[in-house]
Amino acid sequence: EISIRVSGVTKTFGEGASAFHALSDVSVDIRKNEFFTLLGPSGCGKTTLLRLIAGFDHPTSGRIELDGEDISQLAPFQRPVNTVFQSYALFPHMTVAQNIGFGLEMLDRPKAEVAATVAQMLSLVRMEALADRRTDQISGGQQQRVALARALAPHPKVLLLDEPLSALDYKLRKDMQIELKRLQSETGITFVFVTHDQEEALTMSDRIAVMNQGTILQIGSPREIYDRPEQRFVADFIGDSNFLEAELLTGGASGRLRLGSGHEIEASVPEGMTAPRRVSVSIRPEHAALTSGAEDAALTGTLKEIVYFGTDTHYHVALGSGGSFIVRRQNSRGVTETLEPGAAVGISLGPRSVQVLRD
Ligand code: ADP
Ligand code: MG
Repeated sequence: EISIRVSGVTKTFGEGASAFHALSDVSVDIRKNEFFTLLGPSGCGKTTLLRLIAGFDHPTSGRIELDGEDISQLAPFQRPVNTVFQSYALFPHMTVAQNIGFGLEMLDRPKAEVAATVAQMLSLVRMEALADRRTDQISGGQQQRVALARALAPHPKVLLLDEPLSALDYKLRKDMQIELKRLQSETGITFVFVTHDQEEALTMSDRIAVMNQGTILQIGSPREIYDRPEQRFVADFIGDSNFLEAELLTGGASGRLRLGSGHEIEASVPEGMTAPRRVSVSIRPEHAALTSGAEDAALTGTLKEIVYFGTDTHYHVALGSGGSFIVRRQNSRGVTETLEPGAAVGISLGPRSVQVLRD
C-alpha cells in the first residue's frame, strides 16, 4: 500500500539563465510502514524533496500524494506529516515534557490528552526520568530523543528525518540508528530518512532511493542496491567497485559476457538492455578471488600492492588486458600472507558477481 507518491516532480530555483533544477522529474512510491531512505551526496536535492513532502515549499511541476490524495497545495500544518531536522530546534528554557507537549498544545488538544500523549512519548523514547529537566541541561543524544518524541507526539502518518544523526559522534550515532529502527517498527509510522552516509542507509532501510544531481538513479532494498547497482554512480557511491569494459553477447536477466581477457562469463543485465553491445560492468572486490594458476582465471595480471586493513586485505592487481582491479579477502586469524608484489596472479569471479551497467 502506497503512503507517499511523488510523481514527475521538478523543482526549479531562480529563473531564465540563472534557473537551477534542484529536482528533475523525480518519481517515487513510498510504502506504508516503510523505513525509506533518500541517499545521495551533499547538494543532490534530498532536503529539497523532503521540504516539498512536508509542504515548506511547492513543486514547480508534478504532484505529491498522501494516501491517494493530492497534497501538493496543502500548507505544512494541514498535512499529517512531521519533520525532524538535523538541528533539533528545541526550546532550551522549557523542560523535556513541555517540549514534547508544545505542538499538541498549539493544536488546542485537551490538557488530559496532552498529558497522556507526553507520558506515552516519554516512555517510547525512554526519557521518563528526565521529564522535568530543561533541554539545555541534557546531552546531545538525549536532545535528539526529545526532538523525535516531539515530532511523533501528534501521531503523524509520515515522519520525515533530515540527517537527524549527523551531529552525533560515532558511538552515539550507532545507538540512535538502532533506536530509530525500533521507533519506526513500534509506531508503524512511515519514515522517510535522509542521509549522505551509505553505511547508515544500508543498515537501517527497508528500501533506498539513490539520488544524484536532482534525480533518482535507482530504488531498491539495500541488498538490491549493493548487489545489483545499475549505474556507475550507484556502484561507486555505495561500497567499492571494480569497473571493466566488456562485450555483452546475449541479453536477458542473466546474459553472457566476454571480458577484455577473452574469458566468457554470466552476468546480470539491466532490464530491457539489448545485445550484442559494448558495456561497462561492475564487480565488487569481495566477489572476486585470487587463484594460484591462470587456467581457470577470468582475469590475469600482476600483483602490485597488498594493503592490510585488519578485517580484510586488499590486493591491487594490474590486469594483463589493461586497467587495474582490486580483490578483497577477509582475514582469518593465524593465516600468513604468502603473496608478494610482483607475483603473477589469476582472478576468479564467483557466480552472479558481474553486474552490467546502464551507462
Ligand atoms: P541536499 O539536501 O541533498 O544536500 P539540497 O536539497 O539542500 O541538497 O539542495 C539541492 C540543490 O539546490 C543545491 O545545489 C542547493 O544549493 C540548491 N538549493 C536548495 N534550496 C535553494 C533555494 N532556496 N534557492 C536556490 N537554490 C537552492
Ligand atoms: Mg540536506
